[in-house]
Amino acid sequence: MSTLSIVATPIGNLEDITLRALKVLASSDLVLCEDTRMTKRLFDRHNISVPTKSYHMHSKISRVEEIIGLLKDGKNISLVSDAGTPGISDPGAELVSRIRRDCVSEILSGEIKIEAIPGPSALTGALSVAGVPCADFTFLGFLPHKKGRETLFKEITISERTMVFYESPHRIMKTLDSLVEHLSGANNSEDVLLKKVTVCRELTKIFEEIIGGSAKEVKNYFEIHPDKVRGEFVVIVSKE
Ligand code: SAM
Repeated sequence: MSTLSIVATPIGNLEDITLRALKVLASSDLVLCEDTRMTKRLFDRHNISVPTKSYHMHSKISRVEEIIGLLKDGKNISLVSDAGTPGISDPGAELVSRIRRDCVSEILSGEIKIEAIPGPSALTGALSVAGVPCADFTFLGFLPHKKGRETLFKEITISERTMVFYESPHRIMKTLDSLVEHLSGANNSEDVLLKKVTVCRELTKIFEEIIGGSAKEVKNYFEIHPDKVRGEFVVIVSKE
């Protein structure tokens, strides 16, 4: 029997990894990494030494076939991304989908198993500290840069549900501008709190910060502190 383990890794703090993840990684025949150099930092921190190979969004079909071949040969393989849970705005889903499609009989017979080794994700980390309604929510991944962007902002504005998305430091101010435009009062002059915006920055890292308020308040904060327009961001728009 062989196993493909989809392993969640830290989103900043290298200690945020489960005991099971460490055990599975250390006993893998091969670990597929989005970037082998990033994973090496994690492995060095936890004294893991196993063969690694890259698997990323540009990996060719031949890499997928190679992985399927190794699984059929009985190898135990793990998949990690640079940070967090593979498949969540990261490579992984296509590989798993292809294996589920191409190895139906092996999966049914138990020869090949695909297992989740859950752990950190910026998505759940952000929701856990934002203090917003999250019994249900919509995750948008990264917003499109052009096509469909305006439509999404309109959806975010009218949605009854908490909306969550990832944002980069290069685009966070532009996104906050759009949120102000869509979420502030009719003439955009009053700071009307129609929706709450929460920006979770650098979760689990030294400069972790949660900033919440109206779209205008959050935007003003980053205008006053331009040094904080860096790092990694999760943006949450909610009713309260
Ligand atoms: N698979 C990852 C996960 O499970 O969270 C997400 C990978 S996605 C390519 C990277 C984005 O996740 C970043 O641009 C940022 O929006 C968010 N992110 C990752 N780490 C973060 C952190 N420590 N703090 C805030 N956001 C983070």
